[in-house]
Amino acid sequence: MSVARANHHVTYPARVQLVAAMNPCRCGHLDDPALGCGRAPKCALDYQARLSGPLLDRIDLHVEVAAVNPLDLARAPTGEPSAAVAGRVAAARQVQTARFAAIGGEIKPTCNAEADGELLDTIASPDAAGLALMTEATARLRLSARGYHRVLRVARTIADLAGAGGVTRAHIAEALSYRRLAPGR
Ligand SMILES: [Zn+2]
Repeated sequence: MSVARANHHVTYPARVQLVAAMNPCRCGHLDDPALGCGRAPKCALDYQARLSGPLLDRIDLHVEVAAVNPLDLARAPTGEPSAAVAGRVAAARQVQTARFAAIGGEIKPTCNAEADGELLDTIASPDAAGLALMTEATARLRLSARGYHRVLRVARTIADLAGAGGVTRAHIAEALSYRRLAPGR
Protein backbone atom coordinates (compact mmCIF):
# COMPACT_ATOMS: atom_id res chain seq x y z
CA MET A 1 0.00 0.00 0.00
CA SER A 2 1.40 3.40 -0.98
CA VAL A 3 0.58 6.67 0.75
CA ALA A 4 1.55 9.79 -1.20
CA ARG A 5 1.70 13.22 0.40
CA ALA A 6 3.32 16.50 -0.66
CA ASN A 7 6.87 15.60 0.38
CA HIS A 8 6.59 11.95 1.25
CA HIS A 9 5.82 8.75 -0.54
CA VAL A 10 5.73 5.75 1.76
CA THR A 11 5.04 2.16 0.79
CA TYR A 12 3.80 -0.15 3.50
CA PRO A 13 3.87 -3.95 3.22
CA ALA A 14 0.10 -4.26 3.41
CA ARG A 15 -2.81 -5.25 1.21
CA VAL A 16 -5.82 -3.36 2.40
CA GLN A 17 -9.42 -4.42 1.97
CA LEU A 18 -11.78 -1.84 3.40
CA VAL A 19 -15.23 -2.93 4.52
CA ALA A 20 -17.35 -0.22 6.13
CA ALA A 21 -20.92 0.30 7.20
CA MET A 22 -22.92 3.39 8.05
CA ASN A 23 -26.47 4.39 8.91
CA PRO A 24 -28.48 6.20 6.21
CA CYS A 25 -28.89 9.23 8.45
CA ARG A 26 -27.94 10.45 11.90
CA CYS A 27 -30.96 9.00 13.69
CA GLY A 28 -30.76 5.81 11.60
CA HIS A 29 -34.48 5.66 10.84
CA LEU A 30 -34.55 7.20 7.35
CA ASP A 31 -36.25 4.26 5.61
CA ASP A 32 -37.98 2.75 8.62
CA PRO A 33 -41.73 3.04 8.02
CA ALA A 34 -42.55 2.44 11.70
CA LEU A 35 -40.13 4.87 13.30
CA GLY A 36 -39.47 7.28 10.42
CA CYS A 37 -36.97 10.11 10.35
CA GLY A 38 -38.54 13.38 11.41
CA ARG A 39 -35.88 15.42 9.65
CA ALA A 40 -35.79 13.65 6.26
CA PRO A 41 -34.33 14.31 3.80
CA LYS A 42 -32.01 16.86 5.46
CA CYS A 43 -30.95 14.40 8.18
CA ALA A 44 -29.63 12.02 5.49
CA LEU A 45 -28.11 14.69 3.24
CA ASP A 46 -26.15 16.29 6.11
CA TYR A 47 -25.05 12.96 7.52
CA GLN A 48 -23.97 11.40 4.22
CA ALA A 49 -22.18 14.58 3.14
CA ARG A 50 -19.65 13.91 5.90
CA LEU A 51 -18.07 11.31 3.61
CA SER A 52 -15.98 12.96 0.92
CA GLY A 53 -16.56 12.26 -2.77
CA PRO A 54 -12.95 11.10 -3.33
CA LEU A 55 -13.34 8.57 -0.51
CA LEU A 56 -16.62 7.24 -1.91
CA ASP A 57 -15.03 7.07 -5.36
CA ARG A 58 -12.51 4.55 -4.00
CA ILE A 59 -15.16 2.18 -2.65
CA ASP A 60 -16.14 -0.28 -5.38
CA LEU A 61 -19.27 -1.88 -4.00
CA HIS A 62 -22.00 0.13 -2.33
CA VAL A 63 -24.95 -1.94 -1.16
CA GLU A 64 -27.98 -0.58 0.68
CA VAL A 65 -29.34 -3.02 3.24
CA ALA A 66 -32.80 -2.65 4.74
CA ALA A 67 -33.24 -2.83 8.51
CA VAL A 68 -33.78 -6.34 9.85
CA ASN A 69 -37.15 -7.06 11.43
CA PRO A 70 -36.41 -8.79 14.77
CA LEU A 71 -39.18 -11.30 14.03
CA ASP A 72 -37.26 -12.46 10.93
CA LEU A 73 -34.25 -13.44 13.05
CA ALA A 74 -36.11 -16.51 14.30
CA ARG A 75 -36.87 -17.75 10.76
CA ALA A 76 -34.65 -20.01 8.71
CA PRO A 77 -32.41 -18.09 6.29
CA THR A 78 -33.81 -18.03 2.74
CA GLY A 79 -30.69 -17.17 0.75
CA GLU A 80 -27.91 -19.31 -0.67
CA PRO A 81 -25.75 -20.98 2.01
CA SER A 82 -22.38 -19.29 2.57
CA ALA A 83 -20.54 -22.48 1.56
CA ALA A 84 -22.05 -22.27 -1.95
CA VAL A 85 -21.02 -18.66 -2.31
CA ALA A 86 -17.53 -19.44 -0.98
CA GLY A 87 -17.20 -22.19 -3.60
CA ARG A 88 -18.09 -19.76 -6.37
CA VAL A 89 -15.56 -17.22 -5.07
CA ALA A 90 -12.83 -19.88 -4.89
CA ALA A 91 -13.57 -20.91 -8.49
CA ALA A 92 -13.40 -17.28 -9.65
CA ARG A 93 -10.06 -16.84 -7.87
CA GLN A 94 -8.71 -19.92 -9.63
CA VAL A 95 -9.77 -18.49 -12.98
CA GLN A 96 -7.91 -15.29 -12.12
CA THR A 97 -4.77 -17.07 -10.96
CA ALA A 98 -4.69 -19.04 -14.23
CA ARG A 99 -5.33 -15.89 -16.27
CA PHE A 100 -2.44 -13.94 -14.78
CA ALA A 101 -0.09 -16.92 -14.84
CA ALA A 102 -0.63 -17.05 -18.61
CA ILE A 103 0.23 -13.37 -19.07
CA GLY A 104 3.86 -12.29 -19.21
CA GLY A 105 5.40 -9.41 -17.31
CA GLU A 106 7.67 -8.99 -14.32
CA ILE A 107 5.10 -8.35 -11.62
CA LYS A 108 2.19 -10.71 -11.99
CA PRO A 109 -1.03 -9.88 -10.23
CA THR A 110 -2.78 -12.71 -8.46
CA CYS A 111 -6.31 -11.31 -8.78
CA ASN A 112 -8.31 -8.72 -10.70
CA ALA A 113 -8.00 -6.19 -7.87
CA GLU A 114 -4.27 -5.88 -8.63
CA ALA A 115 -4.67 -5.42 -12.39
CA ASP A 116 -4.14 -1.90 -13.67
CA GLY A 117 -3.43 0.11 -16.81
CA GLU A 118 -2.81 -1.82 -19.99
CA LEU A 119 -3.27 -5.16 -18.26
CA LEU A 120 -6.72 -4.14 -17.04
CA ASP A 121 -7.66 -3.06 -20.58
CA THR A 122 -6.49 -6.44 -21.86
CA ILE A 123 -8.47 -8.55 -19.41
CA ALA A 124 -11.58 -6.41 -18.90
CA SER A 125 -12.42 -4.82 -22.25
CA PRO A 126 -16.17 -5.29 -22.68
CA ASP A 127 -18.00 -6.33 -25.85
CA ALA A 128 -19.45 -3.63 -28.14
CA ALA A 129 -22.74 -3.37 -26.21
CA GLY A 130 -20.87 -3.20 -22.91
CA LEU A 131 -18.56 -0.51 -24.25
CA ALA A 132 -21.55 1.53 -25.44
CA LEU A 133 -23.11 1.32 -21.96
CA MET A 134 -19.79 2.24 -20.37
CA THR A 135 -19.44 5.31 -22.61
CA GLU A 136 -22.99 6.42 -21.88
CA ALA A 137 -22.66 5.85 -18.13
CA THR A 138 -19.35 7.70 -17.96
CA ALA A 139 -21.04 10.85 -19.25
CA ARG A 140 -24.32 10.42 -17.37
CA LEU A 141 -22.81 9.52 -13.99
CA ARG A 142 -19.79 11.79 -14.54
CA LEU A 143 -17.44 8.94 -13.69
CA SER A 144 -13.88 9.88 -12.83
CA ALA A 145 -11.03 8.10 -14.61
CA ARG A 146 -10.53 6.18 -11.38
CA GLY A 147 -14.23 5.29 -11.24
CA TYR A 148 -14.17 4.14 -14.87
CA HIS A 149 -11.37 1.68 -14.26
CA ARG A 150 -12.92 0.47 -11.04
CA VAL A 151 -16.17 -0.35 -12.84
CA LEU A 152 -14.23 -2.35 -15.43
CA ARG A 153 -12.38 -4.25 -12.73
CA VAL A 154 -15.59 -5.10 -10.85
CA ALA A 155 -17.30 -6.12 -14.12
CA ARG A 156 -14.41 -8.51 -14.87
CA THR A 157 -14.86 -10.10 -11.43
CA ILE A 158 -18.65 -10.36 -11.88
CA ALA A 159 -17.98 -12.14 -15.20
CA ASP A 160 -15.54 -14.49 -13.46
CA LEU A 161 -18.08 -15.30 -10.75
CA ALA A 162 -20.60 -16.11 -13.49
CA GLY A 163 -18.07 -18.30 -15.29
CA ALA A 164 -18.20 -16.05 -18.36
CA GLY A 165 -15.25 -15.71 -20.72
CA GLY A 166 -15.76 -12.08 -21.75
CA VAL A 167 -17.17 -8.96 -20.10
CA THR A 168 -20.62 -8.15 -21.48
CA ARG A 169 -23.18 -5.38 -21.10
CA ALA A 170 -24.89 -7.26 -18.23
CA HIS A 171 -21.63 -7.41 -16.26
CA ILE A 172 -21.01 -3.69 -16.84
CA ALA A 173 -24.59 -2.86 -15.81
CA GLU A 174 -24.23 -4.78 -12.55
CA ALA A 175 -20.86 -3.18 -11.78
CA LEU A 176 -22.36 0.28 -12.41
CA SER A 177 -25.24 -0.50 -10.04
CA TYR A 178 -22.74 -0.77 -7.17
CA ARG A 179 -21.30 2.72 -7.75
CA ARG A 180 -22.59 5.34 -5.42
CA LEU A 181 -22.56 8.97 -6.35
CA ALA A 182 -21.74 11.62 -3.80
CA PRO A 183 -24.80 13.63 -2.65
CA GLY A 184 -25.48 16.51 -4.99
CA ARG A 185 -24.26 14.73 -8.09
ZN1 LIG B 1 -32.67 10.75 10.45
